[in-house]
Amino acid sequence: MKKGFATRQIHTGHIDLPGISPLAMPIFQTSTFEFDSAAQGARRFSGEERGYIYTRLGNPNSAQIGEKLAALEGAEAAMAMSSGMGAITTVMWTALRAGDHLLADDALYGCTYSFFTHGLTRFGVEVTLVDFSNPENVKSALRDNTRAVYFESPTNPNLKLVDIAAVSEIAHAHNPDVKVIVDNTFCTPYLQRPLELGADVVVHSATKYLNGHGDVIAGMAAGSAEFIGECTMFGLKDMTGAVIGPFEAYLIARGMKTLDIRMARHSANAMEVARYLEGHPKVKRVLYPGLSSHPQYELAKRQMKDFGGMVSIELNATRSESAEFINSLELCTLAVSLGDAETLVEHPATMTHSTYSPEALLEANIPESLIRFSIGLEDPEDIIADIEAGLSRI
Ligand SMILES: *Cc1c(COP(=O)(O)O)cnc(C)c1O
Repeated sequence: MKKGFATRQIHTGHIDLPGISPLAMPIFQTSTFEFDSAAQGARRFSGEERGYIYTRLGNPNSAQIGEKLAALEGAEAAMAMSSGMGAITTVMWTALRAGDHLLADDALYGCTYSFFTHGLTRFGVEVTLVDFSNPENVKSALRDNTRAVYFESPTNPNLKLVDIAAVSEIAHAHNPDVKVIVDNTFCTPYLQRPLELGADVVVHSATKYLNGHGDVIAGMAAGSAEFIGECTMFGLKDMTGAVIGPFEAYLIARGMKTLDIRMARHSANAMEVARYLEGHPKVKRVLYPGLSSHPQYELAKRQMKDFGGMVSIELNATRSESAEFINSLELCTLAVSLGDAETLVEHPATMTHSTYSPEALLEANIPESLIRFSIGLEDPEDIIADIEAGLSRI
């Protein structure tokens, strides 16, 4: 019988070492692995024999978190990289070549946006961005040479949703070989499993919720054994070299053991904060998929187990008052990144999404006045009291 989510997040990827049985996975802080003989080295390189060769090609700590993520996302295989951008670039360099077309949603993590629009285009990949919240836009933008369809849901930072099942179906009906790639950083497999909804590949910034403790930069990808194999032996090995260090992988494994309870608490706290904000006269708009006022609330209920820890707001305030509000927060820490125990607050237009021009922000429906919160694991009354004090100053 398939074990439950919590059991899988804790027990998957355990390795037995001859003679000793540590409860926690040791850190294999080594660049290379000794062969018994020249013949064995040759067999490992030819793929005739499984086993470790060199840490850029594989390491037990990185393999362990790959197994964990695959078990949680419901994937055949998964792998780890040195950052979320390392994961995204590794996947895209594997999936695309010159002359191909990439169709992506218009609201993307800022560096994903610049990799697509300023990076891939330099190498002969055509890139189109459209609003995926209406799947019809995807249908009309697909081309004969479309090889990949890419999006986040909920999107960063405007918390728009994309119907993963509908978009996957449209893309695959157009051409079964199109790779549907979903950045699942905001949800983690605890809240949403894109592969079960028809997507082909999931990418993560493991820096965020998968680790959950704000002390690592890491990335991951999950998908079919064939595609993840290509990403490992070509995308990562030859193209990006974005290899995760054994210690970073160890920390991700440690964080992932508590993923479900953290995500449940992030979601519960964010819901309380979003409800509070929605009732406040100085708040013009609250973007949170768990509020019935969210235009895609029905889709959120269908596609997500709970609504996550990210909340964005617009204030009834001038730009300088908004800045004053952010500066006056004491418990909520002014910092980019997300998914940590601490509540973090940032201004996307001048920080995470400063890679977008003012026109592109408008087109992507990312208001300059947006303030993004990553609601942490503190007592929700304390988070609300801090926000209340900040709002009372403007
Ligand atoms: C942070 C983030 C990334 C990039 O990840 P890094 O680990 O910072 O390289 C990609 N996508 C989303 C949604 C993110 O929040």
